[in-house]
Amino acid sequence: MRALRKLTAGPGLELVDIPEPSCGDKDVKIRVLRAGLCGTDLHLEAYDEWAASAMQVPQTIGHEFYGEVVEVGADVEHVAVGDRVSGEGHVVCGTCRNCRAGRKHMCINTVGIGVNRDGAFADYVVIPATNAWVHGPDIEPDLGAIFDPLGNATHTALQWPVVGEDVVITGAGPIGVLAAAIVRHAGARRVVVSDLSDLRLSLARAAGADVVVNVGRGETLAQAQERLGMREGFDIGLEMSGAPAALESMIGNLNHGAKVALLGLPKAPYPIDWGHVITRMITLKGIYGREMFETWYLMGAMLASSPQLRTAATSVITHRFAAEEWQDAFEATRSGECGKVVLDWS
Ligand code: NAD
Ligand code: ZN
Repeated sequence: MRALRKLTAGPGLELVDIPEPSCGDKDVKIRVLRAGLCGTDLHLEAYDEWAASAMQVPQTIGHEFYGEVVEVGADVEHVAVGDRVSGEGHVVCGTCRNCRAGRKHMCINTVGIGVNRDGAFADYVVIPATNAWVHGPDIEPDLGAIFDPLGNATHTALQWPVVGEDVVITGAGPIGVLAAAIVRHAGARRVVVSDLSDLRLSLARAAGADVVVNVGRGETLAQAQERLGMREGFDIGLEMSGAPAALESMIGNLNHGAKVALLGLPKAPYPIDWGHVITRMITLKGIYGREMFETWYLMGAMLASSPQLRTAATSVITHRFAAEEWQDAFEATRSGECGKVVLDWS
């Protein structure tokens, strides 16, 4: 089969021909039809310090995908050959305290598909059956391929009730844009999104943001508040850039008692104004992955009930490439002048 792999410990990837993976008793084997690119894949391709510490060599990468089940292990009951599925990318241990308490997204032994073990940029991927999310016929392949980032957005955006709340989202990458669509769907009053890219901000606007702020042009969240007639600050903040400056400006524009969910991964430790956080009684919460599998239920339910959300979620995909054109797909993702980039493996 074709597989996009890191063959040696260094920058680069190669599309190579390798044997198909075998399916264990508790696994499912999936014919990959679509796979989304994410920032993680760029890190793995570049083989930076983090990637070198995380990945195996040789290894197939890719963790956002949709496909058809072609084989199930002897012990598998709830997934059948022919099912159309996406994969939850975090494989959990099932035995740590959090796993046993049902908090699988907090597993201390999480292994990442396409990060710490062979992934989905290939014709076939094998994952534990418990990681397969079976879709109904209403989920088309492209939409199925972005359930992983849509799940990040959903898990972050729905940390707290947003009905009637004023929400600020810093970062209009694919996940920030999806989060804008979700808080809009979930009943937020005002939604403001900041980024440095006009193209990305136009996607955020199309997804439901009332006002977008290009901080690269010197526009500010305070100006956005003024435009919207806000006087007390945002109630909810969703940090989806990983940029220290973004969190700083967010914290400076929150109401007392505001709640902030942090998904964006900073490159390095950075200082924040703790006095501000404390005296304004702000809650900060780190978010990783998706809740297994409550987030997946929520995504399916929201998409089934809201044509607007479906349209917004699908329109975050701006580029599609055949698997052979993977280098163009990586280049498009690297440029930042894109929404979600999807590879077609069918
Ligand atoms: P992305 O890198 O495509 O988007 C980040 C966006 O932030 C970019 O568009 C960038 O222009 C913007 N940005 C940079 N500086 C900014 C600033 N000062 N103010 C506002 N925006 C600014 O990433 P993505 O795929 O949308 O993911 C969002 C973030 O979440 C990334 O940091 C990613 O690493 C992280 N992530 C975390 C998890 C998790 O489980 N915690 C999962 C997936 C992604
Ligand atoms: Zn565990």
